[in-house]
Amino acid sequence: MHVVVLGAGYAGLTLTRLLESDLPPDVDITVVDESPDHLVQHELHRVIRRPELADEIRVSLPEVLDRATVHVARVEEINREERTVTLSTGELEYDLAAICLGARTAYYGLEGVPEHGTALKRLSHARKIRSRALEVCQSRGENGRIVVGGAGLSGVQVAGELAALAREERGAATITILEQLEAVAPGFPENFQRAVERALEDAGVDVRTGTAVTAADETHIHLESGERLPYEQFVWTGGIRGPDAFDGDRPSVKSDLRLDDRAFALGDAARVVDATGDAVPPSAQSAVREARTVAENIGRLVEAERDGADPFDPHLESFTFESPGWLVSVGDDAVAQVGPAVLTGRAAKALKSTVGVGYLSSVGAVRNAAERVSREFASNRSQ
Ligand SMILES: Cc1cc2nc3c(=O)[nH]c(=O)nc-3n(C[C@H](O)[C@H](O)[C@H](O)COP(=O)(O)OP(=O)(O)OC[C@H]3O[C@@H](n4cnc5c(N)ncnc54)[C@H](O)[C@@H]3O)c2cc1C
Repeated sequence: MHVVVLGAGYAGLTLTRLLESDLPPDVDITVVDESPDHLVQHELHRVIRRPELADEIRVSLPEVLDRATVHVARVEEINREERTVTLSTGELEYDLAAICLGARTAYYGLEGVPEHGTALKRLSHARKIRSRALEVCQSRGENGRIVVGGAGLSGVQVAGELAALAREERGAATITILEQLEAVAPGFPENFQRAVERALEDAGVDVRTGTAVTAADETHIHLESGERLPYEQFVWTGGIRGPDAFDGDRPSVKSDLRLDDRAFALGDAARVVDATGDAVPPSAQSAVREARTVAENIGRLVEAERDGADPFDPHLESFTFESPGWLVSVGDDAVAQVGPAVLTGRAAKALKSTVGVGYLSSVGAVRNAAERVSREFASNRSQ
């Protein structure tokens, strides 16, 4: 039997590691990713200010996987009827598949935004954002303006890093964040939204909610109000779409996370509705939790097939999203929502650091976790 995991982000890597320990030894497991490294995306914005962190947030897949075959290739097409996957390197057949290809940046047809707005999904994007921000700070000083479009988890954290970078470079460029909805961190609890907005303002970020971008040209961002906002740098974190293998869609899956009898979809690649009927927010913590349910369900399907039972009808586990809270960094500050409470400052930073190290350890990235702990220890001692 052959189980294939497509994508080794939060969902795919967590799932593959669970399958490695749970599935009988004669079941073959293959994980496919276009990169040989897992990227700890929820820390990617930090590379804008601290390029030396790139190694810490890159986890070598062969180092943390044991029996799974790691195949470095691009997934081009998935034929669910034939149960085949077309890769940039050839074709793969599967008995069961988990599609964990994450999301891509969505531009919603906004004219000029793909050309002028830099996305943030890869290390190369973070480096590009950094080098342009340094140019803006150095050449334009306090007349420079860097605009971040979209105030979700990534936009908020990018704006925080850029504000801190501008301060460190003494360039004092203005960092403006634009959000079309009425609050930053849309979809998150209100007390968290308020605390994040306050942290951004304290960091000197010009926060504009209720402000929709309609287009961009080389020098100006066009707003729905008719205003033309001049800018030197534009970063776009305004939305996500599905992977190319789904033609840009994010297919809906119910709480068993099943796309069909033989395939699951999870993480940012899918729109997940959990057992309580709630839409699950696309996030790293949702992806990791969904992977646990899919690992259990793949285990049950494998077992049913081996027992000669109807492989299409075993009882599958339902996913319910229960978040312990949310955490973002805003430059050197952080905001944490834990149950009804919101923390900022030292307590939130300590929590963020603990969660970061916990995640790295959970995926077997012991070297990365140790590097992070020793770096933070050294930085605390020097403060
Ligand atoms: C700057 C930033 C900050 C964020 N902060 C937070 C946060 O604080 N908290 C939080 O919960 N979430 C945060 N997120 C969101 C979080 O990173 C995503 O929700 C999460 O990565 C989704 O996990 P995933 O496994 O679905 O996809 P991903 O982690 O994106 O993994 C997808 C994998 O598929 C691979 N892949 C994609 N297409 C192909 C292809 N065609 N062929 C082969 N391989 C392919 C990719 O290389 C990647 O390894 C942040 C995101 C960003 C960008």
